[in-house]
Amino acid sequence: MQYFNKKRIQSLIRRGILFTLLIFFFSLSAFSLSLRIGWQNIPKDKFVLKNNVLYVQSSALADAIGADLDWDPIYKCVIFYYGKAELKYFIRSGKVWFNNKFIQTANKAFIANGRSYIPLRDFANIFGFKLKYNPTKKLIYVELGLATLENLNILSNGKTRIIFDFERNIEYEIVEKKTQHLIVDFFGSFIDPPRIDKKVNSKSLKSFYLVQFNPSTVRAVFEFDVNTRCSVVPENGSRFIFDFGTGESTTLKQNTVAEKPIKESESKTEYKRKGRKIRVVIDPGHGGVDSGAVGIFGGLEKDIVLKIAKLLGNKLMATGKFEIFYTRTGDEYVNLYDRAKFANDVKADLFVSLHLNSYKEKTVEGMEIYYFDFSEDGYVRRIVWKENLDPEKDKDKIAIRVMKKDSYTKESEKIAKYLLSEIAKDGLKVRSVKKGEFAVLAYTEMPSILIECDFISNPVVEVRLLNGDYVNKLTDSISKAIKSYFENN
Ligand SMILES: [Zn+2]
Repeated sequence: MQYFNKKRIQSLIRRGILFTLLIFFFSLSAFSLSLRIGWQNIPKDKFVLKNNVLYVQSSALADAIGADLDWDPIYKCVIFYYGKAELKYFIRSGKVWFNNKFIQTANKAFIANGRSYIPLRDFANIFGFKLKYNPTKKLIYVELGLATLENLNILSNGKTRIIFDFERNIEYEIVEKKTQHLIVDFFGSFIDPPRIDKKVNSKSLKSFYLVQFNPSTVRAVFEFDVNTRCSVVPENGSRFIFDFGTGESTTLKQNTVAEKPIKESESKTEYKRKGRKIRVVIDPGHGGVDSGAVGIFGGLEKDIVLKIAKLLGNKLMATGKFEIFYTRTGDEYVNLYDRAKFANDVKADLFVSLHLNSYKEKTVEGMEIYYFDFSEDGYVRRIVWKENLDPEKDKDKIAIRVMKKDSYTKESEKIAKYLLSEIAKDGLKVRSVKKGEFAVLAYTEMPSILIECDFISNPVVEVRLLNGDYVNKLTDSISKAIKSYFENN
């Protein structure tokens, strides 16, 4: 026993001396190199070059990428917690454990002078960081590939909705949800400036801020009153939606045609027409490079809705009561904000956006009419996402626009319900009235609706739409309903 211990101690001492020498040697050879990880320069005594492999002290590495570090003395392993990922370097066996399985790496981590050293290239590969070398500066640079925050929207309309759009899919975690605050971390993300403060001062949300919590994590902190209810809805991995409401849960009402139209007394119909004709802006969706939904027989949403728009406009004009404006009359791309601005500029009495729906279930058919409001319906979200595609990225303007929107929400809802029930009377297949956050409806400063005329994803419907008879019937019905609405309200 004694003999064994003595031998072991000797061996340990020998190894210690060897390592000290090696470190000294590595330090010399690495001396001329500089290393930057993310935006942090790594001090030269924190990394070594060994057989052309660069190793970095685990603590420096963890600091630079914003990971938590742990050491398991029993299994002798270094553990990195990066976002939701877990990475273990077993020093004895040289094995690497990543997200619950062993993985093959080229080089092993080692310990010298009580510090663990991690092979940088392997480490970068595991997390998908990019390793770059600048030979003139002798600089090794590790790009963390963080997703930047591209858009921040504040929508307030009774309740408050905050939307974060990151550059690409990232993971999030609710750190803390208390009666007066909510803390959420977004992993692998980046904001510039490193802190963004927003005062909201709505009934349901006082304020919130975003902070670069560590080199790779953005933290959002929301502050609200005790009676606020909040919900988090991750949209598609890059978009995160936070809803804040007061009191009763704002559940989605099932608005169907069976429901009675809103009572007259609730309506604040106030047209400043003064004898002039009723101005309707007809907005055929999509156009140009944006074809919208495409049917199995090659029917394009942008072409069909343009046909519907022109026919609808002609029929309304034929009544002698309407002045019609179009946001586009040809196959051209018009961004959503310009469409709405046009309607605002001509001081329209009604804005009607025309679209065709599509759905994975090919047998679905029928009309849906939308008005602007917040929606928690996943189905509606998908449609809104599809229709809101806007290369100009002016989505953030919704925030300002929506404030002016309050007075028109009720009337838009009323028109939507009226039209759908009238159209149903004509024997056309209708589904329901829904609320959704369509940008084009948010920007307009007048009653506005969006009609998803039918489902182009349904081959039977597509053929019908490509055939003039159905478009004729459809526009007959919509124009009659619009005329009837203005006569009766
Ligand atoms: Zn569309």
